[in-house]
Amino acid sequence: MLLPKEIRTYCATCKKHTVHTVSVLSVSHRRGKLSKGEIQKARRDRGIGGHGKFSKVPVSRMARRSKTTRKIPMKLTCKECGKASQRTIGRMKKAEIKR
Ligand SMILES: [Zn+2]
Repeated sequence: MLLPKEIRTYCATCKKHTVHTVSVLSVSHRRGKLSKGEIQKARRDRGIGGHGKFSKVPVSRMARRSKTTRKIPMKLTCKECGKASQRTIGRMKKAEIKR
C-alpha cells in the first residue's frame, strides 16, 4: 500500500490538527550482535553434550505463522513541535511512502 508523505492529523502536544510527516517503521531491529537462539546454537556447536532443541530439523518462522500479513506501524512527526508518535495502519504485506 502506498502512504502519503504528509497527513494532517491531531497532535497531542499542540492540542490541534497539524501537518505530520509519515515514515514507516521497520519491525525487526537487532539488539546485539547475536540473538539468544544464535548464542544457544553456538554453545551447542562447541561439541559438549547433546544438541538439545537443535537436534531437530528447524521449522522456519514463516511456516509457524498462520497470517500472511503484518500490522505495520508508522511514525508521525509533527511539523510544528517536532514530536513523534506511532500509529498502526492495519494489516498489509508492504507499506511504501509515495514519492
Ligand atoms: Zn505538534
